[in-house]
This record gives sequence, structure tokens and C-alpha cells, in this order.
Amino acid sequence: MTTNPNPILVDRFGRIVNYVRVSITDRCDFRCLYCMGEEMTFLPRAQILSLEEIETVCRAFVELGVNKIRITGGEPLVRKGAVDLLGKLGRLPDLRELALSTNGSQLATTAQALKGCGVKRINISLDTLDQGLFRHMTRVGDLNVVLRGIDAALEAGFQRIKLNAVILKNRNHHEVANLVAFAVAKNIDISFIEEMPLGLVNSHNRAEEYYSSDQIRADLQQRYTLLPSADNTGGPSRYFHIAGSDSKVGFISPHSHNFCASCNRVRLTAEGRLLLCLGNQHSVDLKQVLRSNPADLGKLKSAIVGAMQIKPEKHEFALAEKPVIFRHMSATGG
Ligand code: SAM
Ligand code: SF4
Repeated sequence: MTTNPNPILVDRFGRIVNYVRVSITDRCDFRCLYCMGEEMTFLPRAQILSLEEIETVCRAFVELGVNKIRITGGEPLVRKGAVDLLGKLGRLPDLRELALSTNGSQLATTAQALKGCGVKRINISLDTLDQGLFRHMTRVGDLNVVLRGIDAALEAGFQRIKLNAVILKNRNHHEVANLVAFAVAKNIDISFIEEMPLGLVNSHNRAEEYYSSDQIRADLQQRYTLLPSADNTGGPSRYFHIAGSDSKVGFISPHSHNFCASCNRVRLTAEGRLLLCLGNQHSVDLKQVLRSNPADLGKLKSAIVGAMQIKPEKHEFALAEKPVIFRHMSATGG
């Protein structure tokens, strides 16, 4: 890949922004313990961007040099018209990589179409292979449906499929080696994520259930040889090859390893706010810009360029009882 010699989206710290994660809905068919409360109030339809508005914002970003877009949520595939939107984004000239994050619940029926849309990479959340525990952690999800979705994605033949697992002490920490064995058997990658204090959750105390990436690595090393890998997706994951396989294991460690210095991304919430940092409140209301200046891509692009000036240097996560950030991950575009 060639690097643009004159990047347009550069922040005060010289970081080039070339990656946008777009939440197309705050709704979800699961209620994962670490992500949502049991009772959630979702945004009214008029408050979230229409699919056309999302497409316009994505077009503006690509014209400003963004070459990777990840569609996420909430659960993106529960929004009606999501696959059509992905098809349109897949046709944006100069977009190098269209990616999707999903809980897998709809993949059995959509994987082939998504491949046809030009989706290159899919991240699928999978925190456990135990049916009962899966139901407990998602509150409502069915593991078998997700496993069928993973198989459908494998059949569709994406460039890369990666599992994402959030690990909580005394809930699913004993599952890490099983999850890696599953990834190796399917010939795909897996990342382990430390829980982030985003939004209030009523199910557990996040500090008490913190399980660090270093602990996970130590657990895995009892069964696997992990070889440091130079692979870097420009993101927060640190990767290791699993000896004797083609799979990699990644660690996303917002608490134990700060990854802000190489941050190349911003996020668009379902409401149309541009978030400059996952762990700070700094944002710009692009919906307001869009709706006050319909059909004026120039105004939208200026607002995006201007927003780079308020991108914070780093996130400030603390495992305090009350979160510093009151948005849930589902509203954020995780
Ligand atoms: N619904 C899709 C899914 O679950 O993959 C996409 C959206 S979800 C918000 C994106 C990722 O964020 C998932 O891998 C999920 O496990 C992770 N996530 C949600 N809440 C989190 C939290 N508080 N800390 C760390 N990761 C979280
Ligand atoms: Fe839904 Fe994904 Fe959040 Fe789970 S992590 S509740 S699947 S948005």
C-alpha cells in the first residue's frame, strides 16, 4: 500500500487519521454483560443518521483520505438496509478496505451477500464456547446460531475473519485456551480484549472482574507457544503467531498497554457525532452539519478537517466504580 504523501486528516500530534469506525445503529439483539444494561433505552429513529446520511459521511471521509471503514454498532446487521449500505460503501472509489464487526447472529443468512458487497474483513464476537455461559454473557444469545454464522463466513471466503473475546475474571477467563483451540481449528485469528469502562453496567463490578492481557497470555502459554509477530493492522492489537498453526492471537489492552501514540482512527456514532477518542468525550456533531447544509459536501468535509484539532492525545480509562465515559460501547461504534 502506498502512503498518501499529503494527508489531509492529521491531528495536533502528527497522527494521520485514515480509518473510521461507523456505528449504524445503537440497537442489538444481544445484551452482553460488559456492553449494555439489561434494560436499555435505544435512540428514536429520527435521532439516528439515515443510511443515506451515513453513506454521505463515509464518502466525505474517503475523499479526505480515509482508506478503511469498519461498520459496527450495536449490531449492524439488525438494521434494515445494512447490506445495501455496505454494497454502496464497497463501491466507493479509493476505499481500500471495508470491514464489519458483528455478533454473528445474522451471518448465516447474510455472509454470502456481504462478501458480494466487497466486505474484506469480519470481526465476530465470541466470548465462550459453552452454551450456558454464552447465554449468561449475552443474556439472550444462542451460541449455535453464532457458530453457524461463523461457518457461513468461512464458506463465503473473506480475506480475514477474526474472533473478538472480552474476558472477565471468574466468568469466562477459563475459556481462553478453548477459544484459541477453536480459532486454530477454523484457521482464523482471535483477539482478547480487556473490558473498558464504557457506560454504566449493573451486572458486575468492572474492577473486580478485570483480567489482564498478561494473565491471558500466561494462561495460553501453558498450552501454546506464542511467537511475537510484526503484524500490525495500525490498531491497538499486539499480535502473536500460534506455533504450528496459521492463526494469530491478538491482545487489546486499554488498561495495561496504552496504544494511543499510534492511533489512526475516529468513530461516528449512530447519532452522527464524530468521536475523536474512544476514551474521551471530545466530539463534533456531524448530523447537525449535514442536516443544516444538505447536499453541501464541502461544509461536511471542513467540519471533519476541523475536528482533527480536538483529537485528544490519549484515553484516560480508570477502573473506578463509576465510568468516566457514560456512553456504552454499543452507542460508540466499538
Ligand atoms: N455487536 C457487534 C459485536 O458484538 O461484535 C459490534 C459492536 S460491539 C460494541 C464491538 C466490540 O466491542 C465487540 O467485540 C464487543 O465485545 C466489544 N465491547 C463491547 N463493550 C465493551 C467493553 N465495555 N469493553 C471492551 N470491549 C467491549
Ligand atoms: Fe450487542 Fe455487540 Fe454490545 Fe454484545 S457487544 S450487546 S453483541 S453491541
